Amino acid sequence: MEPEHDVIILGAGAAGLAASLYTTRAMMNTVLIESLGVGGQLLITDEIENYPGFPEGVKGQELAQMMEEQTTRFGTVIEYTEVEGVEDFDKPVKVVHTDSKTYTAKSVIIASGGSHNKLGVTGEDELAGRGVSYCAVCDGNFFRGQDVVVVGGGDAAMDESFYLSGIVNSVTVIHRRDELRATRVLQERAFNNPKYKWLWSHVVEEFVGNDVMEAARVKDLKSGEVYDYPAAAAFIYVGFHPNSDYLKDLLDMDALGHLYTDIHMRTKLPHIYACGDIRADSTRQLGAAVGDGITAALAAFHDLNG
Ligand SMILES: Cc1cc2nc3c(=O)[nH]c(=O)nc-3n(C[C@H](O)[C@H](O)[C@H](O)COP(=O)(O)OP(=O)(O)OC[C@H]3O[C@@H](n4cnc5c(N)ncnc54)[C@H](O)[C@@H]3O)c2cc1C
Repeated sequence: MEPEHDVIILGAGAAGLAASLYTTRAMMNTVLIESLGVGGQLLITDEIENYPGFPEGVKGQELAQMMEEQTTRFGTVIEYTEVEGVEDFDKPVKVVHTDSKTYTAKSVIIASGGSHNKLGVTGEDELAGRGVSYCAVCDGNFFRGQDVVVVGGGDAAMDESFYLSGIVNSVTVIHRRDELRATRVLQERAFNNPKYKWLWSHVVEEFVGNDVMEAARVKDLKSGEVYDYPAAAAFIYVGFHPNSDYLKDLLDMDALGHLYTDIHMRTKLPHIYACGDIRADSTRQLGAAVGDGITAALAAFHDLNG
């Protein structure tokens, strides 16, 4: 059977978009499959200050739109559907099953990135969209002038809380440790901002509210005290997990599900590549995801064309 495409790219985040730009420009018949929105994590990133070429910084959504325009101009077809399973990845015709259609190709580039971890506490699912959020850029405006909390102490928590500080009355960072993990520059920006309050060595035990969120039930890990901390919203940034469930037992991966590749982004199976945040040892940076995508596309081209 002759496959429909030269390459299927799974995920239209920065890595998948960069890969598709190179495969279509190399005249490879490319389909890019995306389940949510083109841009992936870019869509939930406010300001990006460290992507080369933008001295004033760039908004994540704007960059995603530019990347989409650039790749579709060269012929990338983007299909909105969710990959649910794959088949025959060790055979010449690779098969990808989505919730609406089955695709076949000579090669596959896996670029399905990662998703936010949940806290797993009572009220988190019940109040999701009614106060509990994982995306300040998407939902921050609903809480203009109100008091909100941010859970976490890494780069994402600091980046998103800074965005919120321009909208809300106050932003309280709840962190289980007594120091942040975030990069120094992001820490200092937060410490110098009067909108910030800090609950060090605290964890969230529950989100409380009838119809909408009213408080975070927190525990002081040092004193053991549990109390309700009033807040209109909670923005949760407690890490990511790779979106690789649909590949289970097929490719080599680490304990968290990140895929192992060589430096050309080749996995252990022929004509199957992985790039971006889904990759083990990824630096989880935009520039790196773009570089991975380009490397994967070039490897796919060379492997098909000898
Ligand atoms: C809040 C935040 C701020 C950040 N700030 C910066 C920064 O300032 N500088 C920087 O360099 N980096 C930053 N990053 C990191 C950077 O955004 C990521 O490293 C990069 O975007 C990863 O791109 P990716 O394409 O590998 O993955 P993703 O962006 O995760 O894209 C994966 C895509 O695959 C799709 N997908 C997943 N599963 C499926 C499926 N089964 N079927 C179909 N599609 C699927 C997803 O919907 C998604 O669109 C930030 C990240 C976050 C979250």
